[in-house]
Amino acid sequence: MAVADIAIARIVAEIAEEMRSHENRGKVATYIPPLAQVPADKFGIAVILHDGTVHAAGDAEEPFSIQSISKVFALTLALGAVGDQLWHRVGREPSGSAFNSIVQLETEHGIPRNPFVNAGAIVLCDVLLGRLQPREAIGQMLRFVRELAGDDGIAIDETVARAELETGFRNMALANYMRAFGNIHGDVGMVLGTYFHFCALAMNCRQLAMAGRYLMGGGQVGGHRVVTEKRARRINALMMSCGHYDNSGDFAYRIGLPGKSGVGGGILAVAPGIASIAVWSPGLNPSGNSHLGQLALERLVQRTGWSVFEPRG
Ligand code: GLN
Repeated sequence: MAVADIAIARIVAEIAEEMRSHENRGKVATYIPPLAQVPADKFGIAVILHDGTVHAAGDAEEPFSIQSISKVFALTLALGAVGDQLWHRVGREPSGSAFNSIVQLETEHGIPRNPFVNAGAIVLCDVLLGRLQPREAIGQMLRFVRELAGDDGIAIDETVARAELETGFRNMALANYMRAFGNIHGDVGMVLGTYFHFCALAMNCRQLAMAGRYLMGGGQVGGHRVVTEKRARRINALMMSCGHYDNSGDFAYRIGLPGKSGVGGGILAVAPGIASIAVWSPGLNPSGNSHLGQLALERLVQRTGWSVFEPRG
């Protein structure tokens, strides 16, 4: 093991140890009933380096609901399906509002600010359903993340998907509102069913960090091209500017990495050319981002110098 590897192994272990006993853990999401059952004392971290070395600690092997992190994979699939045409239907600006906000949609004529707020991801699902049946789109997503992670054990938690279907009134409002503006073309129920299944993907930190490797590697994983280099760069740019909702500026300020959070308490973060990182702790801050997940990433970049704003060379 190289010296740098040993140092990173120690940093990851120390971060997990600090987070294990941290008192302020944020609040677990309760608006999706099965998520409310997840104990707040969980913490996991997995760091995969460019050479494939995996460093993991804490509850890194325990699956959790990836929720909005799935929006990164949905964006990748939607860009694969329609390319830059996508940008006629969704913007690329930070929203400055909550993930499930409806207010901007009225003044902006049903065009969501970016693909990483709920309304934006609902449009991504509608785009995918332009060519596929819901079952096919869900199957495509599952195959995609399994292939990215190299792990056929990844599954969708049907209990979570059903709970979201039963309680997702805000998402129904968003989808119907966009339908009224003509920015949802398909059946609203089918679009939402697809969206909820994407959100209900269950993965552990190691699987998630594995799945994020294409964004670390300029679109490639071990010689296999997933997206072009330009597209990987652009997805990373959107994760940096929009990946944490109205908390994205603070995330860039404190951590300085492209990242995407979910209300399950996971965060996927990418240090381009260096590492793919997943952290998980279910307690959230008021913007719906993992409180300890962000703190852990902050510690990691402080100790490794991995922020993209760090001078290189
Ligand atoms: N499924 C969640 C919702 O639609 C996703 C939100 C999130 O992770 N921020 O409300």
